[in-house]
Amino acid sequence: MSAQNEPSFRESVDLMFSRAVALMDLPPGLEEKIRVCNATYTVRFGVRLRGGIKTFTGYRSVHSEHMEPVKGGIRFALGVNQDEVEALAALMTYKCSLVEAPFGGSKGGLCIDPREYDEHELEKITRRFAYELAKRDLIHPSQNVPAPDMGTGEREMAWIADQYARMNTTDINARACVTGKPLNAGGIAGRVEATGRGVQYALREFFRDPEGMKKAGLTGKLSGKRVIVQGLGNVGYHAAKFLQDEDGSVITGIIERDGALVNAKGLDVDAVRNWIAEHGGVKGYADATYVEDGSKVLEEECDILIPAALEAVINLGNAERVKAPLIIEAANGPVTAGADEILRKKGTVIIPDMYANAGGVTVSYFEWVKNLSHIRFGRMQRRQEEARHQLVVDELEGLSDVMGEKWSLGDGFKEKYLRGADELELVRSGLDDTMRIAYQAMRDVWHGRDDVEDLRTAAYLVSIDKVAASYRAKGL
Ligand code: NAD
Repeated sequence: MSAQNEPSFRESVDLMFSRAVALMDLPPGLEEKIRVCNATYTVRFGVRLRGGIKTFTGYRSVHSEHMEPVKGGIRFALGVNQDEVEALAALMTYKCSLVEAPFGGSKGGLCIDPREYDEHELEKITRRFAYELAKRDLIHPSQNVPAPDMGTGEREMAWIADQYARMNTTDINARACVTGKPLNAGGIAGRVEATGRGVQYALREFFRDPEGMKKAGLTGKLSGKRVIVQGLGNVGYHAAKFLQDEDGSVITGIIERDGALVNAKGLDVDAVRNWIAEHGGVKGYADATYVEDGSKVLEEECDILIPAALEAVINLGNAERVKAPLIIEAANGPVTAGADEILRKKGTVIIPDMYANAGGVTVSYFEWVKNLSHIRFGRMQRRQEEARHQLVVDELEGLSDVMGEKWSLGDGFKEKYLRGADELELVRSGLDDTMRIAYQAMRDVWHGRDDVEDLRTAAYLVSIDKVAASYRAKGL
């Protein structure tokens, strides 16, 4: 089949949704209610720039308000369009439900190439977009809470938070209007790394599932596994770095906008990232083979493929040639519905986007709670925890006197044991717990039901079940 037969991103999400609900017993009409996108707001606004007025188009889509606020990132990219924003908003509904973040799904986007503007211009544009959304309650601590996505990060979130605060001067919870802010503007430790960290935790949990590993034809541990990653942005960089530094995986390929780097012995993720920052792309990096048509590297031999850039990169045109036995969708929608079918038939295991990249929204949830409670996690209990641990250490070491042989606990142990958890440790622990529990829920459906052949369908079943339950509880 040619790429022309490829459904749009939103159609792809709908097809995957429909495949799952066909296995459920939902009351008539509820399936349609859950599937459809409630509303999409399109805004066009002008900003005075470089001696003229430039008009921009932006969107904010609300997929489901079964829980409020609704949540979802804001993307800055030239390809942003209504179809894409609606698909991403739908994925947010399912994602939040799967990881039990108490939000409905939303998403926003602005058609812009942020690299074409300097910081001051981008601030003007972002503030104006935020103003347009905030005045319609499409940015609001209790109704709609954006976060970073492609092309946006802490800086943009800080502008949005400040813009909202200027418009709502008496709102004590103003900071909770957006997540992914820098620490000094109400952010939370560990949010920047959260999505990549979640990818790492997801893989670790998958590697603890012998039946899942068997289905993927993999054995052993993450250590030594060959990984190819597409997109060395926020998500791809953190995922690749943590897998390399902490799990001993070997990053054999990195695919970026201008081509790919390949090295069977492993690429140094930080060195490549620094090279890109300095030179604008991967080309010219010394310690690897450069491949001009980067997408070809998606088809290289490896153990784990991590698409972490764009949607639809694995499609009807290349799915048959993708060799990785395990794909983890760090990006949203990187595998089209048609490619998904081809890969399923080949026995490729896909850890689906709605689970794989849920680390971002999970830590965003923690940030939102922190903003509403106006206190840093760990502030009340950390020293008390340390004091109690010290009591145990003193008591144990005191026993050595009683026993007549003087010994003390190892310094390494004491250092680790005595330290009370700070915010970063608590965030990582909460994220790890969330990723494990969500995986286990999918795993039970995947291995436990004969009519469920893949993790994506399992993810939809777990997630839609919860959305349906909350509609039922409302009497719908
Ligand atoms: P980002 O802008 O930080 O990084 C994207 C990277 O992809 C950049 O390095 C860019 O150069 C690269 N890229 C762009 N076009 C490419 C191409 N054609 N081939 C190869 N590389 C290309 O964005 P991000 O925040 O890392 O988001 C990446 C994906 O992860 C998106 O699908 C996004 O929706 C998803 N996601 C992000 C978050 C988050 O917290 N940031 C959370 C959940 C999901």
